[in-house]
Amino acid sequence: MYKCLNCGKSIEMEQVKDKIRCPYCGYRIIIKETPKTIKKVKAD
Ligand SMILES: [Zn+2]
Repeated sequence: MYKCLNCGKSIEMEQVKDKIRCPYCGYRIIIKETPKTIKKVKAD
């Protein structure tokens, strides 16, 4: 699963295999989302 940094929607891999962009808003920055290893960075 991927996630758009702009609209925050989850995107399936099939939707981005050809063109790396969000199918919903067209944003080109997409991050890989791995449900089991979600890391939250705390800014102390
Ligand atoms: Zn988007």
